[in-house]
This record gives sequence, structure tokens and C-alpha cells, in this order.
Amino acid sequence: MDIHEYQAKEILAGFGVDVPAGALAYSPEQAAYRARELGGDLWVVKAQVHAGGRGKAGGVKVCTSDAEIQSSCEEMFGRKLVTHQTGPEGKGIYRVYVEAGVPIEREIYLGFVLDRSSQRVMIVASAEGGMEIEEISAEKPDSIVRATVEPAVGLQDFQCRQIAFKLGIEPAMTQQMIRTLQGCYRAFREHDATMVEINPLVVTGDSRIVALDAKMTFDDNALFRHPQIAELRDKSQEDPRESRAADRGLSYVGLDGNIGCIVNGAGLAMATMDTIKMAGGEPANFLDIGGGATPERVAKAFRLVMSDGNVQAVLVNIFAGINRCDWVAKGVVQALEEVQVDVPVIVRLAGTNVEEGQKILAQSGLPIIRASTLMEAAERAVGAWQNDLSQETKVRVVK
Ligand code: GDP
Ligand code: MN
Repeated sequence: MDIHEYQAKEILAGFGVDVPAGALAYSPEQAAYRARELGGDLWVVKAQVHAGGRGKAGGVKVCTSDAEIQSSCEEMFGRKLVTHQTGPEGKGIYRVYVEAGVPIEREIYLGFVLDRSSQRVMIVASAEGGMEIEEISAEKPDSIVRATVEPAVGLQDFQCRQIAFKLGIEPAMTQQMIRTLQGCYRAFREHDATMVEINPLVVTGDSRIVALDAKMTFDDNALFRHPQIAELRDKSQEDPRESRAADRGLSYVGLDGNIGCIVNGAGLAMATMDTIKMAGGEPANFLDIGGGATPERVAKAFRLVMSDGNVQAVLVNIFAGINRCDWVAKGVVQALEEVQVDVPVIVRLAGTNVEEGQKILAQSGLPIIRASTLMEAAERAVGAWQNDLSQETKVRVVK
């Protein structure tokens, strides 16, 4: 789960990381008012969206007056900000963060990530701040400083001093750099984060080290033990199809194609998507109904897949290990009786009680297309909409 910049800054500040004074606003008037509260004569208005690259896309504006703050905000509110990280549909701007301007002397890149190959938290830093890390690694790979943290002992001060030295931080500011690095690391560990990124971390004209931007991502599977983090979820920043699924305990990833996939297990979901592509189609989603697929769960999955207007065929691919094919078949039949499904439905079942499952599908009288292998299922799904087989095979059951 991602959170907003202002939320990440509040968390990091709680761990001793220096951040600029700032205030949140939900309207242009409020933004101007909050800027007056902050005082000073230079402010930065920042669109709060779950994506980086806002600066280049018009989502970060440096302002020197009330009027400028209001007009910048008017351009932002309600608009979708499209950055290289949002995809073409963009992310809605419903909140802005107003910050007191900071005199920047140097910009540094600082990131903490979960490095799966070393199984450690890895610190990635570069004196080439301001650029995205992808650009830095393409253009200035030698400038990247890396360090991994041994979990048994945690981040050591000597590692922080080494990083500070490699980044060319003045000796007088080493202590501040240690505090910043240790603060980020503790925030990462204590909240089960998977990423903390400060880009840029700046050295100011008055010799302070300040996090000018902040991004944090958390492990969804650990959110249950961090209710205060789970509370920060902002559904306005999520793909509506994915939020609906998350609310129903299903894992769903929306894609751009037109074949809806209902599958059990992430590995099988990936294999199904690959096979659809091999058969010349494009999956509309990745939907994993998990183990123990009750008829209700299958019906929920159908409802979710059918709410995506792009779906022109649904492929159900279940391998019943813990599940049983007859339960899944019952679920499919029940779902088709309850949910309006007016596109071809292709079902491939394998595993426990497969014969019984097939019998239930056959006896249902519903025009379900059955397939015995994954390749056959994928070809039939692709063929079903391509050759307009759909006339005969369309399922129209409305309750
Ligand atoms: P991003 O583009 O989404 O990563 O947004 P950032 O928060 O990193 O802001 C983009 C750029 O705006 C930064 O790299 C800075 O150059 C500039 N910026 C942000 N805050 C300030 C500030 O307080 N003062 C000045 N002068 N520039 C700022
Ligand atoms: Mn940034």
C-alpha cells in the first residue's frame, strides 16, 4: 500500500528526520490560508497523488504570493495528474500540501528498499539527487552508493558515516546524516515498509539536511498489525476495480485486455495470462480467488470481472488441490444464475472430483464452454470473441 507524501513526512518526522514545515489543504482558499499560517514569503504547493514525477508534470509549484497559491491550486484540484508513473489515465488531485520553501544547496537521492536477493533492507543513495533513480542508474551508475543492513544488529552508525562520506556530506553535518538514515531505517522496520524514498534529500543553505519529498510503501500482508498505517489508505488513488476486490478479500489486478480471468493461485493466474497471450489474446485482469473457493466467492469474482466494461469473455481456470472441482462447478453455476454474464464463459477444471464437476456444468443447461487443457481454454476464450462465436454461446441469465 502506498501513502501520500505528507503522511510519509509525518511518519519520518516522528523518527527524527527533518522535514519542512507544511500543512494540508482541500481547497485553494484553504491552501492560501494555511500558507499564511506557515508564514514566510516562499511556498511550494504540492499535489498529493500516489505517484512520483509530479514536478515535471505540473504537480509541484513554487509560489510567492497568496494569489499565486490560489491560482496554482485551481489548476490542480479535481484534475488528473498524469506523470510517467501514473499511466495515461492519471491520478486525481483532491488534496494539496503547502510547504514553506527551503533554500536548496544540494539534492541527494536516498532510498531504502527490500532487496529480495540479499534478503536485507538495502540503502541506495546518490549525490545526483533530483533525478529519478532509474535515470541515475542509467546515466550515472557510478554515483550510486549501496549498503545492506544486517537484520540481527540493525543499521550501524559506521555504515551511516560511510554513506555520508561517499555522498560528500560535510563532516560538520555527518551527525545529522546519521540521524536521518537511522530515522528512515527505524520507520521502515517498525512499520513493515517495503520502500522509503526521499528524493530529493537536500542540504540547505543554512546547513540542515531536510527531506524535501518522501514516499513510503508498506507490505499489504503486514497491514493487519499496523492499523494506524492501514487507516491512511486513500481509495481515490487506487484502480477502482482493485479497491472493490481488496474490500472483498480477493486479489485483483486490472489490465488492459478483454479476457477476464478467474483463477485460483497466483502462479496459475500468471500461467493463464501467459497462455491467453500465446493464443493471441489479452487478459483484462488477474483475479485470484484463492483456496477454498465457495460458490459465494466464485459469484463475487464473476460480479467483479463483469463490472469491467472491457471484458468480452471470461475464462475460469481452476486447479483443485485443496479445492474440489464439484464445489467450483457449483459456484460457477450459481454465479451465472445470480450475475448477469452476457459474454462467453469458458471453464477449465482439473484435479480433485473433476468428473463430478464436469457433470454439474453439463447438467446445468447453461451454455458454458468446457475445455480440458489450459491451451484449449485460452484458444476458445480468444476465439469466442474474435470469431463472434458469441452469438450461440452467449450466456444470458438474468434473475
Ligand atoms: P516529485 O516530482 O513528485 O518527485 O516531487 P518533489 O517533491 O521531489 O518535487 C520536485 C522538485 O521540486 C524537487 O526536486 C525540487 O527541485 C522542487 N522543490 C520541491 N520543494 C521545494 C522547495 O521547498 N524549494 C525549492 N526551491 N524547490 C522545491
Ligand atoms: Mn521527488
